[in-house]
Amino acid sequence: MYDKNENAICKVCQIEIEKLKNANLIDEEKLKIFKNPRRILEANFPITRDDGKIEIIQAFRVLYNGNLGPGKGGIRFHQDVNLEEVSELAFIMSLKTALTELPFGGAKGGVKINPKDYSENELEKISRGYIQEFWRYLGPKIDVPAPDVNTNPKIMGWMRDEFEKMIGEKSPAFITGKTVADGGSEGRDKSTAMGAFYIIQEKYKNIENKSEISIAIQGFGNAGATIAKLLFDAGYKVVAVSDSKTGIFEKENGLNIDEIYNFIYSGKTKKRLSEWDKNEKISNGDLLELNVDILIPAALGDVITFDNAEKIQAKEIIELANGPISPRAEEVLLKKNILIIPDLLANSGGVIVSVFEWEQNLKNEHWDLETVNEKLKTKILKAYEEVKNEAQEKNIDWRLAAHKIAVEKITQKSE
Ligand code: NAD
Repeated sequence: MYDKNENAICKVCQIEIEKLKNANLIDEEKLKIFKNPRRILEANFPITRDDGKIEIIQAFRVLYNGNLGPGKGGIRFHQDVNLEEVSELAFIMSLKTALTELPFGGAKGGVKINPKDYSENELEKISRGYIQEFWRYLGPKIDVPAPDVNTNPKIMGWMRDEFEKMIGEKSPAFITGKTVADGGSEGRDKSTAMGAFYIIQEKYKNIENKSEISIAIQGFGNAGATIAKLLFDAGYKVVAVSDSKTGIFEKENGLNIDEIYNFIYSGKTKKRLSEWDKNEKISNGDLLELNVDILIPAALGDVITFDNAEKIQAKEIIELANGPISPRAEEVLLKKNILIIPDLLANSGGVIVSVFEWEQNLKNEHWDLETVNEKLKTKILKAYEEVKNEAQEKNIDWRLAAHKIAVEKITQKSE
């Protein structure tokens, strides 16, 4: 029923825009600008692998909307990267920057590789190759990249270096998510999780004994492991966490996230949860279906689909990952009265602090961690209150409320 715009690149974007149209929340004419991304770049560039063979690397950069300013969005390295997915993520970024009142549009980049199959030398060639292809459409006032799944400060450093070579001058504000030594912001590494943590703390501020609140988290990378630790340290009961291979589970007392975090991250190389033998194992599928107060998907998109939506028992879902719930699954979840705090609000801490990094670079300033976190808290809780109030006033779900607010801010500017 949703495939009306068959030539639209991003079907999910159309579904979300249709919802706004059908609910008469925004003037239909204004929604036309969201039909397709504003700018799509695709490159297929060669690299020479360590064994001397040539390989063609497929890469994308999409600017979905730029009404409010330069593009902003991460670059993902993943074997499943494709134009539709990159466009959907760029669409979410456009709404996210608008919702949180950042002076940016929304963009996203992707490289279709499994980084585990490449040496460090090869990854550096791919990162530099990406910039050589797209640098004319990137820059502090044009489009500002950042890390995403499987990309990190080291990769940002290579990309910045390549960009500066191309333009012949220093430009730290060209990319965010750099190491602090290289011009990055304090607090950027934890900011996505920190933003969601502030929301959870605000939402549950009246519950004194936080151990009454049970939480399952899918994904134990940057976003997932950090939120697990923040919640554990604040006294919440984290009953399950997982990585791509397996999950671990402790229903009664909750997991000791401090010990698990140290086990995974404190060695020379990162360990896997399958190597942790002090708790019961659980599959990623079963983790999603646990009867918990809060489920936090913090890995990849589309993990809750029409096939498993009926089995989801969590009271509330906080989308730390981008796009973890398919639109058809969302319909099922909403009928079950499960509250969904959508990605564009829940994980916006990352882009908020990315923009703080850009601002510090442009002003040649360095803010301390306390300042960064205080500014982040103020910004994300303002958006949280706005979405909550809109949802309550109009009696609509939180995603629709967040989309309405964001689209209004974007379309006001284009008039
Ligand atoms: P990451 O690469 O650090 O971690 C990803 C985690 O997901 C790892 O633990 C990995 O093992 C796990 N994983 C991978 N495939 C999986 C699968 N099929 N099933 C279950 N787990 C799987 O990535 P990240 O930076 O933590 O990003 C996670 C999600 O959060 C992504 O959707 C990303 O777009 C979103 N996000 C991240 C940021 C950020 O600042 N890092 C900001 C906004 C949104």
